[in-house]
Amino acid sequence: MKIAIIGAGISGIGAAKIFLEEGYEVEVFEKASDIGGQWSRCYPGAILQNRAVEYSFSDFPFKSPVENPSKEEVLKYINDYATHFNVRKYLRLNQEVLHLAHKQDEQGWILEVKDRGTDKKYKVEVDYVLIAKGQFYDNPTIPEELQKGQTVFKGQIIHSSQYNKLQQLDGNKVLVIGFGKTSLTLQLKLLNDP
Ligand SMILES: Cc1cc2nc3c(=O)[nH]c(=O)nc-3n(C[C@H](O)[C@H](O)[C@H](O)COP(=O)(O)OP(=O)(O)OC[C@H]3O[C@@H](n4cnc5c(N)ncnc54)[C@H](O)[C@@H]3O)c2cc1C
Repeated sequence: MKIAIIGAGISGIGAAKIFLEEGYEVEVFEKASDIGGQWSRCYPGAILQNRAVEYSFSDFPFKSPVENPSKEEVLKYINDYATHFNVRKYLRLNQEVLHLAHKQDEQGWILEVKDRGTDKKYKVEVDYVLIAKGQFYDNPTIPEELQKGQTVFKGQIIHSSQYNKLQQLDGNKVLVIGFGKTSLTLQLKLLNDP
């Protein structure tokens, strides 16, 4: 039985480990060049809002010196997990799943995949597909009123998911809109590392 997993964030990696243990054939398709999903890309200064102990697999403790680890530590945890459970050799990095089609006369799925390195498209047939594509990174929401404002506002309007390098905002005066957890973490980072 062959299973395709779409996404190599913590969900896809965790699922791959379980399926492999159960004896299934597994391929994990990840459009990015690395694993970790959200944690490999989110904004500087992001920390885990849970405690490490709550964000770990029961058979692989998250040994963090602090209760709320940084995004770098979370990413390391996911990488260590993938290495420890030998998931890496089943990863297909830089491979974006473009389309899924149900096979016509038999059980199973046909994936259309694009190799982001070569831009070549190819098809893969599997029995089952597990979608672990996450929900945040590809769907940043900027309210329409703000988008319209870009015609009069001469500065740049970006979503927090587009802020991924510390130096990106250097020398700028920044207005942070919103007052939730992301906003507070970002404000602290911007104030402490201007
Ligand atoms: C700033 C921030 C802080 C967070 N803090 C917490 C927290 O404290 N606690 C908590 O529980 N959760 C938190 N989350 C939620 C977090 O997203 C999840 O905990 C976790 O990362 C979800 O993992 P995932 O594997 O489901 O998705 P993701 O981490 O989003 O990974 C999905 C992967 O799928 C890949 N992918 C998508 N589409 C395709 C495709 N078509 N083909 C191939 N690959 C594809 C993406 O490239 C990505 O690597 C936070 C999220 C953000 C944005």
